[in-house]
Amino acid sequence: MLKTFQGGVHPPEKKELARDQAIEPFPAPPEVVLYLSQHIGAPAQPAVEKGDTVKKGQVVGEAGGFVSAPVHASISGTVKAIEPRPHPLGGDQPAVVIESDGKGEWAEDVNDERDWSGMSASDVRDAIQAAGIVGMGGATFPTHVKLSPMDGKPIHDLVINCAECEPYLTCDYRQMIEQTEEIVAGLRILMKATGAENGWIAIEANKPDAFDRFVAATEDDPDITVEMLEVKYPQGAEHQITAALLGREIPSGGLPLDIGVICQNTGTTVAVYEALRYNRPLIERVVTVTGEGVERPGNLRVPLGTPVGAILEAAGLRDGVNKLVLGGPMMGLAQYTPEVSVTKGTSGILALVDAEVYDWRACIRCGRCVDACPWQLVPSYLSIICEAKNVDAIQASDIMDCKECGCCTYVCPSRRPIVHLVKYGKGELARLRAEEQDRKAED
Ligand code: SF4
Ligand code: SF4
Repeated sequence: MLKTFQGGVHPPEKKELARDQAIEPFPAPPEVVLYLSQHIGAPAQPAVEKGDTVKKGQVVGEAGGFVSAPVHASISGTVKAIEPRPHPLGGDQPAVVIESDGKGEWAEDVNDERDWSGMSASDVRDAIQAAGIVGMGGATFPTHVKLSPMDGKPIHDLVINCAECEPYLTCDYRQMIEQTEEIVAGLRILMKATGAENGWIAIEANKPDAFDRFVAATEDDPDITVEMLEVKYPQGAEHQITAALLGREIPSGGLPLDIGVICQNTGTTVAVYEALRYNRPLIERVVTVTGEGVERPGNLRVPLGTPVGAILEAAGLRDGVNKLVLGGPMMGLAQYTPEVSVTKGTSGILALVDAEVYDWRACIRCGRCVDACPWQLVPSYLSIICEAKNVDAIQASDIMDCKECGCCTYVCPSRRPIVHLVKYGKGELARLRAEEQDRKAED
């Protein structure tokens, strides 16, 4: 029996649309919009001024603190503006806008082969930090922070998350079969950076060719194990992949680090390899462009900051598209305009046709959401207290344990927008806590 976790759902995979399309480079656009906030944590601070000329790989935004990441130019050209632009998270956020000079010239101090084998663990982490690498599965947490020892807790297991459980997305899969060796080398670098003795590559069973390639690539490495997991959403979430693979539960409110585990996404692992092997900062990523609304689905290597509208235009939009999503359909972000740009966390661009729009109804207490919740929460209760704006009940609940995976919403026969309601509840909690802090500061 394949390893898996408790709860979860089986949405239609829809991966066949783009799965067989090899990664192709997307041409550098005439202009890129590099947001200073493409990660969890403090936004980067501008390191250039309007009118400056920049080269590929040059820092244009300095990290705004330890929990932050620098931003690098993805094309060469001239800084046209530093101004707010529409951001995938909503609203406008500060960005460095670069107009291309068409030359694609690299900065002098990057993109050179180097030997990382003699580097210390902390030097490896520093190199990852300098390269601006963040979690590329969508979480966008700065990778150097994740790899840094916490309270002296040892790391035993380093897991490369090759589940790619979100429907439609195939960017990780293409990297698994096209860049197998780079992923294995990246895993070895990550093991060195953390001191982990055990390396794991965890793959959902719908990618048997990737499994075979990893087994062949690691046959001489007794410290690395390749495991196949059941196809189930959200198999790729850190808590679920840890539970499925290692049979260990992460405590409520905790992190994999609390039990000596670190999980890294496939694309992040390739970025780590490229940073250490070639001194190459994170300036591009593989994006799956797909959905029934796209004429030519594919997997594209895209310069960061490329406008989403330009990618959709190249892929060809069909009639009837009524929903645009960045990321996967379960946890991705619906967009109201294609005038946003690709960030470090943009794994997919989905153009959906006839996306279902439902009226939602009262909870009928069927319990399906409870069975589906991989975190053993009671989503129906959370949705009811949030809908009622019952702040006392929200404060007393375990709402912060909700990972917004969308399993509950997916199975609910009343079509209740549970994730949306939970987001509202979390927002209320954040507001109350901020008010409480302000009160304390005034006293
Ligand atoms: S969105 Fe939250 S409440 Fe719903 S299934 Fe996922 S973790 Fe549970
Ligand atoms: S699945 Fe929907 S209707 Fe059923 S208990 Fe959960 S919230 Fe209520």
